[in-house]
Amino acid sequence: MHIDIITCLPKLVESPFSDSILLRAQKKGLVSVDIIDLRAYATNKHKTVDDYAYGGGAGMVLQIEPIDNCITDLKSKRQYDEVIYMSPDGELFNQAMANQLSLKGNLILLCGHYKGVDERVRQHLITKEISIGDYVLSGGELAAAVVADAVIRLLPGVLNDETSALTDSFQDGLVAPPVYTRPATYKGWNVPEVLLSGHEAKINLWKQEQAIKRTAQRRPDLLE
Ligand code: SAH
Repeated sequence: MHIDIITCLPKLVESPFSDSILLRAQKKGLVSVDIIDLRAYATNKHKTVDDYAYGGGAGMVLQIEPIDNCITDLKSKRQYDEVIYMSPDGELFNQAMANQLSLKGNLILLCGHYKGVDERVRQHLITKEISIGDYVLSGGELAAAVVADAVIRLLPGVLNDETSALTDSFQDGLVAPPVYTRPATYKGWNVPEVLLSGHEAKINLWKQEQAIKRTAQRRPDLLE
C-alpha cells in the first residue's frame, strides 16, 4: 500500500509515521507514506497556497490550483483507488471503513487548513470525504494521521501477533475485554484469578463474557 498525505504544514503530520508500529510497517516494506508539501506546488513567487474567501468572512481558503497541480503530478506517477479529503462534514470514520481502506492499493489523503479548501476541489478532484468525528480541528493533518494509523495497522504483517488486530474493539462488533499485566497484586488490587489459571478455554470464555458485558455497559448500540 502507498499513502500520499498532501498538506500545507508537513511537520504537523510527520511524527506519527516516524516511530513505533507505523515506522516498522514502512521499514518492513508493507506500506510507504509520502508527506507532500502543498507549497511545492504554489504558483506564485511567495509560495502561498491560500487566499481570502470570495464573499468575505473570516478565514483563509486553500486554493484549487496548487491542489490540482499536486494531485495531477501524483496521478502521473501512480494510479489511486481513492482521493480522500479530510472534512468535518465527511462520512464518519469507523472500523468498518478502516477495514475497507486497508484492502486498497494507493490512497491520497488531502488535508485542509484554515477555513478548508475551495469547494471546486471537493466537486472535481476528490472521490471520498472522511470525518473523524463531530468536532472541528485546526487542520486535516491529525485526522489524516488517525485514518492512516487505523488502516496501516490492519495490513497483514504490520502487527507482530497476526491475530492482534482481530481481537481489538469493534472488529467483532464488541469492545475489547480488560487487559492486565504484572504484578498480579498491586496495593491489594488483584488481577482476576482466571487469567492466572493457565486454563486457555476458561480464559477465552472469560474474555468473551467480559467483552459482551462491557459492550452492554458502554456501547449498547453495538449490540442492537
Ligand atoms: N470551516 C470548516 C472547518 C475547517 S477546519 C467547517 O466548518 O466545516 C480546517 C480543516 O481541518 C478542514 O479543511 C479539514 O481538512 C480538517 N478537519 C477539521 N475537522 C475535521 C474532522 N472532524 N475530520 C476530518 N478533518 C477535519
